[in-house]
Amino acid sequence: MASPSTPKYTIDYMPSDVPGPKARALVERDGRVLAPMGRVYPLVIDHASGCEVWDVDGHRYLDMCAGIAVLAAGHSHPRLVQAAQDQLTRFTHMAGTDFYNEPMIKAAEKLVSLMPGGQDWQVFFTNSGTEAIEACIKLARYATGRQNIIGFYGGFHGRTYGSLTLTASKPRQRIGFFPMLPGSFHAFYPNPYRPPLGSPADRVAETCLSFIEQTLFTTTCPPEEVAAIVIEPIQGEGGYVVPAPGFMQGLRELCDRHGILLICDEVQSGVGRTGKMWGFEHEGIMPDIVASAKGLGGGLPIGAMIAREELARKWQPGSHGNTYGGNGLICAVTHELLCLVEEELTANAAAVGPQLKAALEDLQSRFPQIGSVRGRGLMIGVELIDPASGEGDHDLADAVMEEAFRKGLLVLTCGHSTIRFCPPLTLTVEQAEEAVERFALALEACVAK
Ligand code: PLP
Repeated sequence: MASPSTPKYTIDYMPSDVPGPKARALVERDGRVLAPMGRVYPLVIDHASGCEVWDVDGHRYLDMCAGIAVLAAGHSHPRLVQAAQDQLTRFTHMAGTDFYNEPMIKAAEKLVSLMPGGQDWQVFFTNSGTEAIEACIKLARYATGRQNIIGFYGGFHGRTYGSLTLTASKPRQRIGFFPMLPGSFHAFYPNPYRPPLGSPADRVAETCLSFIEQTLFTTTCPPEEVAAIVIEPIQGEGGYVVPAPGFMQGLRELCDRHGILLICDEVQSGVGRTGKMWGFEHEGIMPDIVASAKGLGGGLPIGAMIAREELARKWQPGSHGNTYGGNGLICAVTHELLCLVEEELTANAAAVGPQLKAALEDLQSRFPQIGSVRGRGLMIGVELIDPASGEGDHDLADAVMEEAFRKGLLVLTCGHSTIRFCPPLTLTVEQAEEAVERFALALEACVAK
């Protein structure tokens, strides 16, 4: 897929048209009754289909953020709508912690069947990603009898207290909320583009592993008291950072040496997004526990902790639970979504993702502000920099995100200065081409200012 030099796709409204009058009125009503959340730009959705979204004033947008990497099958996929309708007429909810229901069992069976490695796994359904991480932390402590947990700088795992304590991507997520969960430590994520600890570019994995083993373990955090290390196989909110080659394997070995559980947070990178079912599959390793959410519900709120059976079985009845986990309606949709992931979505992400990435890389020759294009499958980050210093340009990333909205393209930033592309996994090559064209127009408008 070549990156377009002359515009092929028309934008049938002017930047000054958005937000339109209906959107402006709704934004004002929202501000009166909803707690402030820091919306990034004034998109007010009216309806959507596949990778396209229309706002309340009739403007069309191409969706490269999918409700923050959620809508794996796109908006309103007919098979998911059908599954929801069928289930709604039977029953919606019966409290999976207390009673049995077939949609929950089917969704768990499907999820377990999609775990590689032929081991036995068990599932605990949650309502969100953060709750999946809480379940992982609790199981790790319970199963090992150890208390401490290690996360990574730049990581994002959610905003409830256990997950927030591991989250280390932006100070404003923590300001006003201390103290955090005791027994939590952080290590350096092996970012090959910006090597931590002054590491040479070709030794990032070794440097970051050695920090854990030679500094953390020998000073503040004895390994025999560490229950688990929690890591995103691609850092999401931290900037779509793919770990340096060899790091994940080294981490697995380090965990094995010290009897520490390895937890992969696949909330953003899982369910086909990277062109494999799970991000860790690119690394040739197996975690002990996996956290999933986002894409798993195809747009409905669900998460899951998937643990090696011998660990999950350690929980006694009543050790953990919730009210909505295993909700019949959502599990029916999740089962259908997982079928779609298995049949076509993962393969499509593996096919279209590299084409989208290559087209974005092509833009680097036109825009020295593009410092790095990285990612796997349809999880792609474009880091924007000040070409003179090489430093990340946070203001430019924000400006491009907003200008893209005005050019009919929905993207979100992540990390310090990265624009992320995490579209529905149904994305076609033509839609990818249109997205790159609109992105280039937005970037051009911003760097010309
Ligand atoms: N883990 C990762 C990797 C995430 O990206 C997120 C959300 O962005 C979470 C956990 C938290 O998920 P949720 O917002 O559903 O609580």
